Amino acid sequence: MRLLSALWLFTPILAHAGLPRAASVPGGVAVIALGSVSSNVIPPRAWLGEQPVLVSAEGDRWYAVVGLALDLPPGSQELRVRTGDASRTIGFEVSPKQYPEQHITLKDTSKVQLSATDEARANREVATIQGLKHHWRETAETDASFILPAKGRLAGRFGRKRFFNGEPRAPHAGLDVAVARGTTIQAGGQGTVLAVDDYFFNGKTVFVDHGNGLITMYCHLDRIDVQAGQPVRQGQRLGLSGMTGRATGPHLHWSVVLNGAMVDPELFIPAARQDAPSRP
Ligand SMILES: [Zn+2]
Repeated sequence: MRLLSALWLFTPILAHAGLPRAASVPGGVAVIALGSVSSNVIPPRAWLGEQPVLVSAEGDRWYAVVGLALDLPPGSQELRVRTGDASRTIGFEVSPKQYPEQHITLKDTSKVQLSATDEARANREVATIQGLKHHWRETAETDASFILPAKGRLAGRFGRKRFFNGEPRAPHAGLDVAVARGTTIQAGGQGTVLAVDDYFFNGKTVFVDHGNGLITMYCHLDRIDVQAGQPVRQGQRLGLSGMTGRATGPHLHWSVVLNGAMVDPELFIPAARQDAPSRP
């Protein structure tokens, strides 16, 4: 696989390496052509609702790379685009997607019932995390071609609908990689550490800001080796895996956020594009 990836570098197909794989579904990414770079040297700007979205040049084209939230209803959506003084809207379709369901029976419900103190803390943290997910830092370039942050089995895929004792819970908004405690966790791509903290549910967590609304989040770490504000390169160690916060065993929970929407991390990993179909 390694050798294959290296060979791919010399084929024209990787001219699009900086863009994620398009999947215009809830939890996916819409990639929308905005015109040629040679006729618009200044990048167009684009918004989904009020949220600015990533615009990236690949080859001779500008593309809007739009994160689609899991709870976005399928159907027609509109992207607002401004090039210089000219504004226009571009319509695109979001297709439905059925993610697998996971039903979990819990005999001891006290384990999921939070104390008032814990609940207050968790609620405060949800607000903080929401703010971090919507952080926008303008950068000249955003490389959206990531590496898997840890070597391990892909244990929990993105989007799975979870039910505890028949009650629907938040869908799984990340990718779980099964790793032993103490495994090196690497930055998926180049960026700047946006925040590090120890949260009730997510445990020790690192946020990396890749610019223009693309943010990655690494949860349940045992140890964090970086600080907020620090630039990191792709593959740089962020810390070691663990099971801090609410985790049933050691694993990395990795989330990718694009224009505030949690999207499928596997769309951003070229290697997974090859491997994914053969996995159960
Ligand atoms: Zn997870």
